[in-house]
Amino acid sequence: MNDLTIKTAIDYELPETVRNRHMIAGEWLGSADTFERRSPSHDVVVSVSAQGDAAMTERAIKAARAAFDTGVWSRISGKERAAVLLKVADLIEKNVDRIAVFETLESGKPISQSRGEIGGAADLWRYAASLARTSHGDSHNTLGEDMLGVVLKEPIGVVSIITPWNFPFWILSQKLPFALAAGCTVVVKPSEITPTSTVMMGELLIEAGLPAGVCNIVLGHGQPVGSLMSTHADVDMVTFTGSTAVGKLITQAASGTLKKVALELGGKNPQVICPDADLDSAADAVTFGVYFNAGQCCNSSSRIIVHEDIAEDFVKRVVALSRKVKFGDPLDPDTQVGAIVTAEHNAKIDRCVKAAVADGATLDLGGGTMAVAGLGEQFYQPTVISGVSPKMAIAREEVFGPVLVVLTYRTFDEAIALVNDSDYGLSAGIWSENMHTCMDFARRAQAGTIWTNTWMDGFPELAFGGVKQSGQGREIGRYGFEEFLEVKSLVLRIGRSRAPWVQQDA
Ligand code: NAD
Repeated sequence: MNDLTIKTAIDYELPETVRNRHMIAGEWLGSADTFERRSPSHDVVVSVSAQGDAAMTERAIKAARAAFDTGVWSRISGKERAAVLLKVADLIEKNVDRIAVFETLESGKPISQSRGEIGGAADLWRYAASLARTSHGDSHNTLGEDMLGVVLKEPIGVVSIITPWNFPFWILSQKLPFALAAGCTVVVKPSEITPTSTVMMGELLIEAGLPAGVCNIVLGHGQPVGSLMSTHADVDMVTFTGSTAVGKLITQAASGTLKKVALELGGKNPQVICPDADLDSAADAVTFGVYFNAGQCCNSSSRIIVHEDIAEDFVKRVVALSRKVKFGDPLDPDTQVGAIVTAEHNAKIDRCVKAAVADGATLDLGGGTMAVAGLGEQFYQPTVISGVSPKMAIAREEVFGPVLVVLTYRTFDEAIALVNDSDYGLSAGIWSENMHTCMDFARRAQAGTIWTNTWMDGFPELAFGGVKQSGQGREIGRYGFEEFLEVKSLVLRIGRSRAPWVQQDA
């Protein structure tokens, strides 16, 4: 462990504990019960939040329903909606530093990353604003002289938005501005682990002039808040990001009213490293892909599939780079990898790694929790595991920590078979200088996103989502926006050409 790069605690004036309340119909409401979030890296209570119950959730859903039905948002022009979304984007940029400190203290992620995610989220709001103005349906002028067909796109209605703890502000911004651009009204439930940046978003929405009741925020746990948001008859759609296990529960809960469900779930995302690849770039991207957000990332490239001729050399390169990654104090602007979100999750990561070693895998680096001087023990060492067979749990299950698994292949067909031998299908990547190899891979790999000679580049324009048990539906991009729209067909007869059905002389 001594030869890792560890950033110890820096001097920093920590903000006072913030008090979070629900935002319902434009009002801030407390609850008798509260829950607190203690920082995983700094020994402070970051937030104390009102604990939502079924009655509070019901109230939020009613507010969203009433706001939708009055048309205060759903029936105004795209131009007016876009104006509000653009104001929110400006306000996000003005508040980056304030929000980022709480995001870092609650999640444990590095402050430079929090600033990047919060500042970067403004672009999602601006892109969604452009969609609010350019959304349109279809017309059919080919149905005959006396007919015109029009397909209208309408907001789907009231949307429940349920988000996880790993990218609280960013994932909210992958959903909320798109739902709002479509004209929907929403109820949001952030993770109980990271509620604060969502409440701060609520403040910005009010400041930007979003009408009361269009966005409502309920704080609390999956039970009863998230569960009621998934079953309630007044909700038309649930969009959820989180674990595959909870995604399945939500699908079951939503089936009672057949509401639409969009799911962004887990992944065990592979990168294939071909012998002709630029190995320096590939090793750097693999190192980034596995340690970004301490591996607590749906898009973590937690599984690499390396040609056996270069495997030993490639693992050495990744191990050497891993030792240089700056783990440690999340508040240090220089830190690249921060804390693990909870002690329970840190222990779970460690159990997965220990089980892999017991199964016969080889530890090339790391393999244990670590303490950072002045900050406690909720950190995990950068970990590289080779000698892994495809049937081992470590090769198949999402660890959600800074843990890289190395598999090897001989033929390209074998590599593709390993890529697709997974319950998941969120993203996949390939490193090769041969464009034909990359294109062949792109067409055969079962995943919602394919990266060739890069990893985790994303753009608001490009849809994101998974296949198989990584989810259903898409978010961001035009496809993500369309998820929040319902289609209605209009059949218009021109003139009095309709032939009577009832025969008058009968
Ligand atoms: P989680 O599934 O435990 O919780 C996510 C949210 O669901 C939280 O707000 C939680 O309170 C709520 N919830 C819990 N039980 C519920 C229920 N029965 N009904 C309704 N809501 C309920 O996930 P997490 O631990 O917060 O996040 C980690 C998981 O999220 C990982 O599996 C990761 O892969 C996944 N994830 C996926 C993406 C993606 O876009 N595909 C992005 C980030 C995270």
